[in-house]
Amino acid sequence: MRLTQYFLPLLRENPSEAQIVSHRLMLRAGMVRQSSAGIYSWLPLGLRVLNRVGQIVREEQDRAGAQEILMPTIQPAELWRESGRYDDYGKEMLRIRDRHERDMLYGPTNEEQITAIVRDAIRSYRDLPKNLYHIQWKFRDEVRPRFGVMRGREFLMKDNYSFDLDAAAAKHAYNKMFLAYLRTFARMGLKAIPMRADTGPIGGDLSHEFQILAETGESEVFCDRRWLDTDILAADVDYDSDLEPFFRHWTSLYAATDEMHKPENCPVPPEQLVSARGIEVGHIFYFGAKYSKPMGAVVTGPNGDEVPLEMGSYGIGVSRLVGALIEANHDDAGIIWPDSVAPFRLGLINLRPADAKCRAAADDLYAKLRRAGVEVLYDDRDDSPGAKFAAMDLIGLPDQLIIGPRGVAAGTIECKNRRSGARVDLSLDAALTRFTSA
Ligand code: ATP
Ligand code: MG
Repeated sequence: MRLTQYFLPLLRENPSEAQIVSHRLMLRAGMVRQSSAGIYSWLPLGLRVLNRVGQIVREEQDRAGAQEILMPTIQPAELWRESGRYDDYGKEMLRIRDRHERDMLYGPTNEEQITAIVRDAIRSYRDLPKNLYHIQWKFRDEVRPRFGVMRGREFLMKDNYSFDLDAAAAKHAYNKMFLAYLRTFARMGLKAIPMRADTGPIGGDLSHEFQILAETGESEVFCDRRWLDTDILAADVDYDSDLEPFFRHWTSLYAATDEMHKPENCPVPPEQLVSARGIEVGHIFYFGAKYSKPMGAVVTGPNGDEVPLEMGSYGIGVSRLVGALIEANHDDAGIIWPDSVAPFRLGLINLRPADAKCRAAADDLYAKLRRAGVEVLYDDRDDSPGAKFAAMDLIGLPDQLIIGPRGVAAGTIECKNRRSGARVDLSLDAALTRFTSA
C-alpha cells in the first residue's frame, strides 16, 4: 500500500481526552476515531490489526473443535424473559422497541440466543458435544466508558458456548477452551495469566479470567511471584486426550482476581505474593444447567430420560486486545507490533521521492515485495525524512526498509528493526531475500 493513497490520519499532538498510552497511540496512529462515548469507528490501519487478532482467535477456536456461526446483534427480549435475565441485567443493557412495540435489545452477550438455537435443533445425547462460537459486536452501556477500546460500550467479542450431556463432558469442553486460550494469547506474544474468577451475572460454578499484568489494568489481581518468570507456552495438545493434567499444571501456581482472593485462605506466603493490576482479555465459565433448565434445552440421554444440557460460555475481548497489545508493546516513539498481529509486515521509506534514482529503486523493491506476497506500507510521500521516521515508528511495523540517495549510489538499503532498533545495511537483493524467504 502506498502511503500517498492510504487513509492514515496521523495526529502530531497527544489528544487530551486519552488518559492511557494505548488510547493515545491508537488515535495518533490513525487506527480509530471516537463516534460517541465508548463507540469507535475503525480506520484502515486499526481494522487490519482487529482482523489479525480476530483471525488468531478464530484459528485457535477451530483447532479446538469449535464451529463458527454468526448470531445477530439485536435480540428479542422474549428470550431473556425465558431465562429470567431481562429484568436482572440492569442498565448496561440497551433496550429498544421496534415499530410494532416489541421489546428488543442490543445483545451484551448471547447465552439465551444460542440456547434457543440449540434447544430447537438438538434432541439426543448422540448429537453432543457441540461448541459454537461467533465474533460479533456487543453493546453494554457501561457507566464509565474509558481508555478507548479497552472499555467501550460497543465492542467486538468472540463468545462461544459448549453443550454437553454431563458434568464430566462439560469440564472437558472447559479444559479445551482453557488450553485454546493459552495458545491464542501466546500467539499474540501476550502473557495472559489464567486466574480463578468470580462468575458474576453469567453465573456458574467454575470460572477463569485471563489477565495481562499492566499498570493501566482495571482489575486488582493476585498471583504467585513465580508467574512472573513463567513462559506460557502454546503447547500443541491433542484436544481429544485427557486434558486434566494440563489444566492442573496451568492452575498449580496461585492466581486469583480480587473477588476470589481472600488473604486468610491464600496458599501463598505474603512475600511470595504479587499484587498487581490486570487487563482482563478473556473469561471462561462453566455453569451447568443455568440457562438450559429454565429455557427447556434438554436432550434424551442414553437411558431414555430427559436431561438439561450442561453448558459453558467463553469470551475473548477482541477489540480490547488491540488496546492491551499496545499497552504491552510500545516505547516513547510509538507502537511496536508483534509480527503476528502487525497491520503490515514491513514499512518501506523512500527518503527522496523527488530523486529519480531513489524513486525507481523504491518502486522496484515495492513491486517485488508485493509480488512475493509481503504486506508492505510504502511511504512514498513528499515529506521530510524526520517526519517519515517518526510516522513509521509511531505506527510500529516490525521492520523498516529505508532507501536514500547515498544507499542507492552504493547499492544498499538500510534495514531497521522497530523493536530492537538494530540497523543493518543490506544489498537490495539481500533485503528482498530476508523478507520473502520466510
Ligand atoms: P469487565 O470485568 O472488564 O467489565 P466482564 O467480566 O463484564 O468485563 P465478560 O462478560 O467476561 O466481561 O466478557 C468477555 C470479555 O469481553 C472480557 O474478558 C473482556 O475482554 C471483554 N469485554 C467486556 N466488557 C468490555 C468492554 N466494555 N469493552 C471492551 N471489551 C470488553
Ligand atoms: Mg469477565
